[in-house]
This record gives sequence, C-alpha cells and structure tokens, in this order.
Amino acid sequence: MSELNLILLGPPGAGKGTQAERLRADFELPYYATGDILRAAVKADTDLGREAREYMDRGDLVPDELICKVVIDRVDSDEARDGFVLDGFPRTVGQAEELHRALEGLERQLTATLLIDAPDEEVIRRLSGRRVCLDSGHTYHVEFDPPKNDGFCDQDGSALVQRDDDKLETVRHRLEVFHQQTKPLVELYEREGLLRRFDGTRSPEEVNGHIRATLATLRLEEQI
Ligand code: AMP
Repeated sequence: MSELNLILLGPPGAGKGTQAERLRADFELPYYATGDILRAAVKADTDLGREAREYMDRGDLVPDELICKVVIDRVDSDEARDGFVLDGFPRTVGQAEELHRALEGLERQLTATLLIDAPDEEVIRRLSGRRVCLDSGHTYHVEFDPPKNDGFCDQDGSALVQRDDDKLETVRHRLEVFHQQTKPLVELYEREGLLRRFDGTRSPEEVNGHIRATLATLRLEEQI
C-alpha cells in the first residue's frame, strides 16, 4: 500500500488516543490529534489558543475555519507523505468535505475511517473519573487506574486535576455534540465504503488486534 491515510472516529473517551499510540508505533505514521493541538495552543497562549479556549471549556466544537487549515497544513507536509493518523478530525460534515477537497487537490485519498464506538454510560464513567498531572500530563483514573497517593502523580508528586472538559456536565454536553455533529460522519463514510467498526468496550489489546487485522486485509485487497 503506497499510503496509509487514516481517520479515527468515535465519541470522546472511546480509546482513540490509546489506539493511535499503537498505530503510530506499528506503522510509523505521524499522528495529528486536534484536541492535543488545540490544548497546546491554549497553553502557549497563541492566537489560535485564545480563540479556541472558550469553546473547548464549554465542550463545544471550535468553528471549522479555525481548525481545518491547521490540520490540512499538517496532512500536506513532508512527514505525512506516506500517510497519517487523524484523531478528533473531522468532527463535522463541513470538516470532512474540506478534508476531502484538500486530499483530492493533492491527488490522495483516505484509506479508511476507523470507528471506535462505546456507549454513552461507558464514556461518562471513563472521562469523569480521569485525572491529569498538572506537570507531566500523565493520566490516571479514580476507579480503573488510581494513583498511589490520592490526588498526586506517582511519577513526580504533582497535583492531579480534572480537565474542565472532563467535568460531568461538560462530558454530557460533549456527548450531545458528538451525536448531533459528528455521528453523521459515520453514515457518510459508510456510504463511501471507508468505514470500519471496532468495539471500544473491549480491551485496548483486543481493539488493536482487530485494527491490525483490518489494515492487513485492506493491504491484501489493494494488492489483488
Ligand atoms: P478532544 O481532546 O479531541 O476531545 O478535543 C477537545 C476539544 O477540542 C473539543 O471538545 C473541541 O472543543 C475541540 N476540538 C478538537 N478537535 C476539534 C475539531 N475537529 N473541530 C472542532 N473542535 C475540535
């Protein structure tokens, strides 16, 4: 397969980031997570960060025109010549259309959209229990992966905090946003024959195994 151009789709907290880590390691692909890009911009207090912040804190999507160019510039960079993994983009039909146009202009196309799905109750449990180290960014979970000392990072002893957008009400709102604005992409990619589904309630190892098997099949199909 000449290129591996992948999108990870799914509700927040379904495990897209975890799977992306493994895909990066397995296939040496650059990974562009728009949530991470935007959080870094907020932290660095850039123009993008200042514009994005209020939307993010509320759990709303930032406007398409703020995020599309950021992603398309990366997709069109040297490091992404052999492929890329997009996580958290596209999130609206408008973003998907813009990405499609940009790829067409570059005479490239998507290889697959990997949908990692999980029910709302599971997402709420996972995200509202998540705690992040202020210093290292290391994450814990009050129920599934608690630190040894309640409220403090095992690695450097810094305080653990809850991200504003992981607060219960905001998680509920992010889910609503997912169902209203991002779910339509599932149908869109299904119609285009690009969608592959994975059960995000399975263990990360199982999901990774299924994804690897799917990508291996896609490669075989391409050779036929
Ligand atoms: P995430 O970590 O992917 O859940 O993203 C965190 C927040 O960043 C989201 O709740 C949005 O406010 C914003 N965001 C990330 N990706 C996008 C996108 N593709 N379009 C609009 N907003 C985004």
